[in-house]
Amino acid sequence: MLNFTFHNPTQIFFGEDQIAAIAKEIPADAKILVTYGGGSIKTNGVYEQVSNALKEHNWIEFSGIEPNPQYDTLMKAVEVVKTEQITYLLAVGGGSVVDGTKFIAAAARFEGDEPWDILAKHAQVEDAVPLSCVLTLPATGSESNIGSVVTRGTTKLAFMSPHVRPIFAVLDPKVTLSLSERQVANGVVDAFVHTMEQYLTFPVNAKVQDRFSEGLLMNLIEEGPKALATPDDLDVRSNVMWSATMALNGLIGAGVPQDWSTHMIGHELTGQYGMDHARTLAIILPAVMKVQREQKRGKLIQYAQRVWHLFDGTEDEVIDQAIAKTEVFFKAMGMPVRLSDEDLDAASVETVLAQLELHGMTALGEHGDMTPEVSRNVLETAL
Ligand code: NAP
Ligand code: FE
Repeated sequence: MLNFTFHNPTQIFFGEDQIAAIAKEIPADAKILVTYGGGSIKTNGVYEQVSNALKEHNWIEFSGIEPNPQYDTLMKAVEVVKTEQITYLLAVGGGSVVDGTKFIAAAARFEGDEPWDILAKHAQVEDAVPLSCVLTLPATGSESNIGSVVTRGTTKLAFMSPHVRPIFAVLDPKVTLSLSERQVANGVVDAFVHTMEQYLTFPVNAKVQDRFSEGLLMNLIEEGPKALATPDDLDVRSNVMWSATMALNGLIGAGVPQDWSTHMIGHELTGQYGMDHARTLAIILPAVMKVQREQKRGKLIQYAQRVWHLFDGTEDEVIDQAIAKTEVFFKAMGMPVRLSDEDLDAASVETVLAQLELHGMTALGEHGDMTPEVSRNVLETAL
């Protein structure tokens, strides 16, 4: 196991009607900006619950944070934070609203030239407006991690800072009942791929992390299709929601090598073609498994045996079956598993490669050995 420091102070309020808990958690003298997206919270009762909880507080709102939050929109919110002297941010929505609010929090206190440098030049985030969230879409883990992904035009970039980790996160599985089938599926697959990117790497004998990861993967494989088949089942929603948080809150990634190549290539597909985040991952992960087969051989066999209970055949046959099972699972969740499923052809390979190069994504994978040539192989395998 590698050395690590693990510290995740985000307080989680999990369960039905927990939104009320925010009343006592946000300082009484705070000037709050409640941020949200395109309005789903106005139709599913979440906005009303938040308003009721904040009736003794001083708050205003900023709406219109889009999926794959756009820099220009977020900069408008930064202006509001400054002119209204906001002291606390409450994000109410999915990963895009939470990520966007993290950027607003950091950009509002940024003293460099332009806040875009936080993403484009890895400018240090020294401070941020305190923030918390009410999560409405289980997927990203953003509710208790330090990451944020922001898009400007066709460029989608991430930054990380402990200053933007939410102080608390409300996870009420009931509010996820209004999600479309597509968003439920997106969330399950995003959480599954997050787990895989921390698990399917060079083995370092991290048995605790491996078993946690295998548990999460098996749970998502079991509960994901149920969330589509029996959409009113709150137990299923609860298990999906908690899995998504645990998949990317730092726990399973502590002390292990990580391979975020699927996400990095996926971000370019979203930036260029507007594809949903999770749909890009369902296309790229199987191709990474195939292309990086030798580097990941030991873990692929472990994944096949422990997650899919595949024991019959040679090592290579077992690996092939595990990759095939992964694709069948993604398809059962309504995902594309090839670029051609999204009407993309060989021209998209060149476009994505050029963007990867432009964004410095030329040494991906847990060993940094995924050169542009390897990424080309991945993309061609995904055709
Ligand atoms: P999302 O983009 O936040 O939301 C997708 C759609 O779902 C929106 O139209 C939203 O509508 C709707 N929605 C959300 N909650 C709903 C509910 N309860 N009922 C009905 N509709 C609802 O989706 P996401 O998958 O959570 O976030 C994706 C973003 O997170 C991407 O930009 C991705 O790159 C990023 N990401 C971040 C991390 C991280 O660690 N920070 C990790 C992976 C991915 P409204 O706009 O009306 O709310
Ligand atoms: Fe993701």
